[in-house]
Amino acid sequence: MKPVLLKAAIATLLSIIASLAISWVAIRLTGGSMNWFGVFMSTLCPLLIAFPASAFTFYQNHRIALAHQELEAAHRELAGLYRRLAASARIDDMTGLLNRNTFIEELNQAGRQGAGGVLLIIDADDFKGINDTHGHLTGDRALAAIATVIQGLFGAEGIAGRIGGEEFGVFLKGASLSRGRAVAERLRRSVERIEVRTVQGGTARLSVSIGVSFVEAGADFSTLMAIADELLYAAKGRGRNQVCAPDPETVTVQLRTAS
Ligand code: GH3
Ligand code: MG
Ligand code: MG
Repeated sequence: MKPVLLKAAIATLLSIIASLAISWVAIRLTGGSMNWFGVFMSTLCPLLIAFPASAFTFYQNHRIALAHQELEAAHRELAGLYRRLAASARIDDMTGLLNRNTFIEELNQAGRQGAGGVLLIIDADDFKGINDTHGHLTGDRALAAIATVIQGLFGAEGIAGRIGGEEFGVFLKGASLSRGRAVAERLRRSVERIEVRTVQGGTARLSVSIGVSFVEAGADFSTLMAIADELLYAAKGRGRNQVCAPDPETVTVQLRTAS
């Protein structure tokens, strides 16, 4: 409030000076001379008019400036919220990996950019049994533990997501089939070493089956998924806790036929 009154006082003072100057010039031009009454009126009029008018104007300006500041702060807060919301809409809450939609979107985007690579479809074995034996909460911890291993192994270089209840996907852009096999095997062994603390205070052991598919260029989720799914099914059929990948010979023949 103080700056408003100060500005109004300065504006009033300037008005009084201008009023006195104009009156003095007008009176001189008409051949008269300024008396005390002229000085009094030239001071009183701007004092009565200019002070309230300029105080009101400066006060309104001050309120508009405050409203602008509040609006800018609200905009900044909204932009921050939007950024956080957009990020959380991409992430699976329980595991911190990408959610299914974002995983598929990112893989297909890599494919549109011409990238080939390896897709791993990872499914926790006998997970219903884990839930039935140790409870759903332990099951949730087990999923988070598997996700932590996946994140640790591939977080920096791969696209990793939770694509179903106890099913995960990892796409390694530009990776060869032999590398895909090797990392899938590394992941399988790492999951074997996990010891999940159960709600009852014991430990539960886990395993995963992994289907691997490979494409040389232009990855596409549905094609890669269909192959990896078939191989995952084969891994389950062979007793679980296994990696199944295409035969390198067959892949080479397929690539030769396609080109
Ligand atoms: P398989 O080795 O053939 O994959 O057997 P499975 O028991 O893992 O497969 P199935 O499809 O029969 O059961 C999957 C189970 O995973 C059942 C479901 O309750 C559990 N599951 C799915 N999502 C979650 C989850 O978010 N938390 C917990 N605790 N369990 C989940
Ligand atoms: Mg399963
Ligand atoms: Mg499953």
